[in-house]
Amino acid sequence: METKTAIDRSTSEALYEKAKTFFPGGVNSPVRAFKSVDGAPIFMKKGDGCFVWDEDGNKFMDFCCSWGPLILGHNHPAVYEGVMNAMQNGSSFGAPTVLENELAELILSRNPFIDKIRFVSSGTEAVMSALRLARGYTGRKKVLKFEGCYHGHVDSMLVKAGSGLVTFGTSSSAGVPEEYANETLVLPLNDVEALHECFAEHGKDIACAIIEPIPANNGLLLQDKSFLLALREICTENGSLLFFDEVISGFRVGFNGAAAHFDIAPDIVTYGKIIGGGLPVGAYGAKSNIMSHVSPDGPVYQAGTLSGNPVAMAAGIAQLTECAKDGFYEDQQARTRFLVDQVNQYSSEHGYDFEMITVGSIFWLSFAGKKRIQRADQIDSDMTPFKHLFAALLEKGVYLGPSGYEVGFVSQAHTEEHLQFAANAFCQALDEVFK
Ligand SMILES: *Cc1c(COP(=O)(O)O)cnc(C)c1O
Repeated sequence: METKTAIDRSTSEALYEKAKTFFPGGVNSPVRAFKSVDGAPIFMKKGDGCFVWDEDGNKFMDFCCSWGPLILGHNHPAVYEGVMNAMQNGSSFGAPTVLENELAELILSRNPFIDKIRFVSSGTEAVMSALRLARGYTGRKKVLKFEGCYHGHVDSMLVKAGSGLVTFGTSSSAGVPEEYANETLVLPLNDVEALHECFAEHGKDIACAIIEPIPANNGLLLQDKSFLLALREICTENGSLLFFDEVISGFRVGFNGAAAHFDIAPDIVTYGKIIGGGLPVGAYGAKSNIMSHVSPDGPVYQAGTLSGNPVAMAAGIAQLTECAKDGFYEDQQARTRFLVDQVNQYSSEHGYDFEMITVGSIFWLSFAGKKRIQRADQIDSDMTPFKHLFAALLEKGVYLGPSGYEVGFVSQAHTEEHLQFAANAFCQALDEVFK
């Protein structure tokens, strides 16, 4: 049964019908199609601060924030100004510009884990290129990934665990040959024993172990630090590279991401989302001895017509300059806790099987009560409660990413006053869901 909302979405509905004649599923990225919630996707017209306006004129407080990139909120004046200034000098050259140096210096001068960086145009491209680098550097073929971590739509990462005790992956998308999938080993998260078994058998063939150190694309699966330390150690023992995919956690849980949060040094890191200030930027980085294998210094080929695009670099510089200011992340976390603590207290007082799980300025809506969820298979696949909550919140003027597996983000533009409004909306929506 559809959960009808009273808000008028007729313009979005009409635009979606038209979009379906142009794009598969009417969208240019699948989760936007609202398949996990009711109704047509909401077509956005404008964003400012923590608010968005749709084509029907509805206004929502936004906790999707473009799925993470907008840590300063929409239309931040510094980002706007940086982009406009860059645009005046032309949008692309296919030649180096000073803006690439500036963004690199901003990052590398603060980041103890990497010496060199290469800019690309998306998180997927960063992961794809860095996997090639890991294989080129080690001369090994296999990569290890963890069930429940998302690494973009790279062929070798569209892989799920095989059946039984077999750790060889099977492809999770049509168009990915099983031969590719077989080069990827898949293990459950937070399982040190499985790690030891896998490395005992395949250790000498593993180029790298790739992980979201804070898995946030399939619920928020907070890992024990001891698990990440075990992974670090076993990679070192086996000559495999530890690859932190920080496309979502980088510049989010702190300027230097999860690596600094856990104080664990990866060998290769990827960034995306926040790094581009809302424009398409991804990046991969490592110590010099590894990065020297990338073309034109080394034999691992990787290139991009629009890589290091000046307008995108300017957006990244403006955004990361704000993020690098003293107290930025403490403030983000405090405001997030202000929201989360209120909602969790209310939920627990009312005995609802609901908890907001949080780290930094990320939150995830868990309908498993107080159960700790650290692995993909522990998430209840029945997303009906999320669907109801999503609809109830839309009614109250709050927009979340339209899937219960996705996390929400608090931006710098969400003030305590805004978050108080949101906390009240969440509590009322929970009453409706659990009534
Ligand atoms: C979003 C994401 C990606 C993919 O980035 P795109 O820019 O969407 O290609 C890869 N890895 C992680 C951890 C992500 O969160």
